[in-house]
Amino acid sequence: MRPARRGFKHQTAVSTGEINRIIIVGAGQAGGETAQRLRQAGFAGDITLIGEEPCAPYQRPPLSKAYLAGKLEMDRLLLRPPSVYAEEHISFLPSMKAVWIDRATKKVRVEGGRELPYDALVLATGARPRKLPLVGADLDGVRLFRTAADVDAIRPRFVSGAKLVVIGAGYIGLEVAAVARQSGLETTVIETAVRPLARVTSPEVAGFFLDEHTRQGVRFVLGGQPAIIKGQDRVTGVGLADGGELPADIVIAGIGVTPETTLAQHSGLAIDNGIVTDAECRTSDPHIFAIGDCASRPMAHFDGRVCRLESVHNAVEGAKIVAALITGQKPHAVEAPWFWSDQYDLKLQIAGLFQGYDHVVFRGVMADRSFAAFYYKGDKLIAVDAVNRPGEYLGAKMLIQTGRSLPHDVITDETRPMKELVASAR
Ligand code: NAP
Repeated sequence: MRPARRGFKHQTAVSTGEINRIIIVGAGQAGGETAQRLRQAGFAGDITLIGEEPCAPYQRPPLSKAYLAGKLEMDRLLLRPPSVYAEEHISFLPSMKAVWIDRATKKVRVEGGRELPYDALVLATGARPRKLPLVGADLDGVRLFRTAADVDAIRPRFVSGAKLVVIGAGYIGLEVAAVARQSGLETTVIETAVRPLARVTSPEVAGFFLDEHTRQGVRFVLGGQPAIIKGQDRVTGVGLADGGELPADIVIAGIGVTPETTLAQHSGLAIDNGIVTDAECRTSDPHIFAIGDCASRPMAHFDGRVCRLESVHNAVEGAKIVAALITGQKPHAVEAPWFWSDQYDLKLQIAGLFQGYDHVVFRGVMADRSFAAFYYKGDKLIAVDAVNRPGEYLGAKMLIQTGRSLPHDVITDETRPMKELVASAR
């Protein structure tokens, strides 16, 4: 979560009767889901879905898991079979970039100059991976990690015995490291912070994952500063600021993302850590919505705090909200944020937002590789990290969603099933 400073005042809604042409810019999960949900909700007008990538909308989470491991093919990543778009009269324009929004005449211009009129526009432009600010970052064998094409380029070299240096110990870095070790690569992770997963979890849970990766043979350079990528035509190593050097056949950078707001910014929409929207995903222009990684909005479960969430949950929720609003359906009940990560045989499931917690208590023990960390702010449960504990994840998610809590000594009482505790919560 990247908190932003302020929200955007509620605007007058576009009357749904006026909307006959919808353009969705961005054919990732948020954009793809919006098109689908509009049709499911009975929208019969024109839908145009514009995407920069050459393929139909697909799920990104498996990229750093089963897809990198070669256990899942591209057709299984797709949200829906490509033929569905034509069947549902959704005009899907792949390999196309929207370059300008003329808000006065309500038109989107795409590369090449063609202009497409809209009554409502949905920006689902996602996020861009941060580039490595290093000499040598463009050498062969050095990749960012965001698209299926990135993984396709890495896979031929992702073989047993190869030397991999991962830069960044967020979800991308650690998920890639897990697949790499399982595939027999010599793996080193460099992270500027003193611990992995600093943005997304507590020191305790981060320490657990650090220990697990170390046990699996991953080497870590924490507090490390990559200074140069070495090599002639292709990468041979990573030089560190302290003078050290790590040999490398492949370098994968997962050093975070920045919201893709270029189009919105050029057209004068309010931007503050992403495209600013109200709780209904409406931007500062009432005819334009923004959803997914590119947008910040007030979160119902967190006292209206404005957040920009980079997650599947947020992409799908934005799609549901916009489709309901445009088709005049009952507003969709918002869900507590959720995330997950698979590393080795560990399934980490997260609900809520842990930022701002003042206390964490545990159910189960880390040594058993099955535990849940519950984060509290005062008496209020605000988040859970559950490792191989689906029951605790679901129970805590339900509590967070319904604004209920359990005292620390009750939630940690393993003699009572989580389900029973949740039922007793107020
Ligand atoms: P991330 O969670 O922001 O982690 C990137 C890490 O790299 C941060 O700890 C960052 O530290 C560090 N870093 C930044 N610059 C560095 C440098 N020059 N050298 C070494 N370390 C550096 O982002 P990510 O792992 O790249 O993931 C990208 C996006 O995909 C995120 O939205 C993530 O949530 C999403 N994703 C999610 C999942 C999942 O939910 N399971 C899986 C994969 C990806 P600072 O914070 O100090 O900059």
